[in-house]
Amino acid sequence: MKYRSTRGSQSESIDSPAAIIQGLAPDGGLYVPVDFPQPKVDLNDFVGLSYQETANTVLSWFFDDYTDQELSESVVAAYGQQFDDDQIVPLTDKTAGSYYMELFHGPTLAFKDLALQVLPQLMTRAVKDQGVNSDIVILTATSGDTGTASMRGFQDVEGTQVIVFYPHNGVSPVQLRQMLTQQGKNLKVVAVEGNFDQAQTNVKKIFGDQQFNEWLAGTGHQFSSANSMNIGRLIPQVAYYFYTYAQLTKRHEIKMGDKVNFTVPTGNFGDILAGYYAKKIGLPINKLICASNQNNVLTDFFATGKYDRNRPFYLTNSPSMDILVSSNLERLLFDIAGQDDAQVRKLMAQLASDGSYQINDDMKAGLVDFAAGSADEKEIQAEIKRVYDETGYAIDPHTAVGSAVAHRYQENDPDTPTVVLSTASPYKFPETVLTAINGKSKWTGLNAVNELNRLLGGQLPGGVAALFDLTPRQEVVVQPDAMKDYIQDNL
Ligand SMILES: *Cc1c(COP(=O)(O)O)cnc(C)c1O
Repeated sequence: MKYRSTRGSQSESIDSPAAIIQGLAPDGGLYVPVDFPQPKVDLNDFVGLSYQETANTVLSWFFDDYTDQELSESVVAAYGQQFDDDQIVPLTDKTAGSYYMELFHGPTLAFKDLALQVLPQLMTRAVKDQGVNSDIVILTATSGDTGTASMRGFQDVEGTQVIVFYPHNGVSPVQLRQMLTQQGKNLKVVAVEGNFDQAQTNVKKIFGDQQFNEWLAGTGHQFSSANSMNIGRLIPQVAYYFYTYAQLTKRHEIKMGDKVNFTVPTGNFGDILAGYYAKKIGLPINKLICASNQNNVLTDFFATGKYDRNRPFYLTNSPSMDILVSSNLERLLFDIAGQDDAQVRKLMAQLASDGSYQINDDMKAGLVDFAAGSADEKEIQAEIKRVYDETGYAIDPHTAVGSAVAHRYQENDPDTPTVVLSTASPYKFPETVLTAINGKSKWTGLNAVNELNRLLGGQLPGGVAALFDLTPRQEVVVQPDAMKDYIQDNL
């Protein structure tokens, strides 16, 4: 399996360990498989597999430059006791008509853990295999959840440092406390006076800054990424689509081969792209439903073929989806353009200069696998309440975006089972969940966590309980144009 840049030629393809170390391609593009694996998948074989076995199988399709032993050791280390559910990704059965794929049972309570527990394993093995001598600096822009999950994943991993940039005043109180209480000598976390798009754009610029990279190399370091632009983060996410499909079969909710819909609360388009990759290699998916919050640039894109980021940016109560420039859409564009890197370069140049681009009709035809919709703040609150009132099940605001969009979609397609990807625990956003259910809530932060726990009962997830005992570090705030200086001063 070789990987190439969406903006470069196939002749410059590299293998997966090299792509994982690099993160972003030097030309600014994203690494994608040159050819997708064509595994002889008998889905029946998946029905009896544990999550770990499923992940192992999927990783071995895409990352065949790793030995079986390397992959199985990575998977065992990644999906163990740090998850508070033996199934790792349980599928709820409390709700009628829809299923929620619970991706929040990891140490930082969002789906990011599924990839960021395994990425450090893959990265350190790649470093060894490739004989890389420099320290890896994981440069991360976060809309709230990647930050904590990457710090947690790389905590005290030898030969790595993590620098996380998050939008100042742009994350939830629990997300902030999580980031500021991560333990580890190799972790730095910095607020940027700006939004996620600015942080991500600057991180990408820093990756592409040749002079700065040379300076960095001179100090014995090199950059990599824990954002979903890293292919080593994306591929592990393919596994839970297969696992969930097998669970539905095992429970006799569907017959083997039946198609299902997956609804994905979307920001940077990573999670849903993993679903697209699952479909490409044979999983019977009907539609991948792209759910956006009020920042609904993707909803418009799927309706019109025009991507236009020239619009107001909203800070919402689903902050991890407050994104107007969805990085991973570039990988989809590459695919629906028939791997035409020149076309991708053209569209990305237009996005950089004009903030918009229009895809042609051929490419538009490639969007058939998707549907799209959005939910605003009011609809999100109403959906949290509807689900809670009908079933007693509490969903977080991001999941609620997916749930609301799925609910609307099902009116037109009532017969296809629909799985909503539940991307975060309600305990990460207790203020919004309480307000939705009770009409009003005066609690914030840890007080809101306690109040939500009183309402829902049961044990607090470990990742939240730990927050009560740890003292947060002081917040450090920089201007967007000072991110590079910060790195220079703090390595
Ligand atoms: C990151 C995140 C998303 C968006 O996922 P993408 O892969 O960026 O599309 C949705 N919900 C939550 C809770 C997240 O943390």
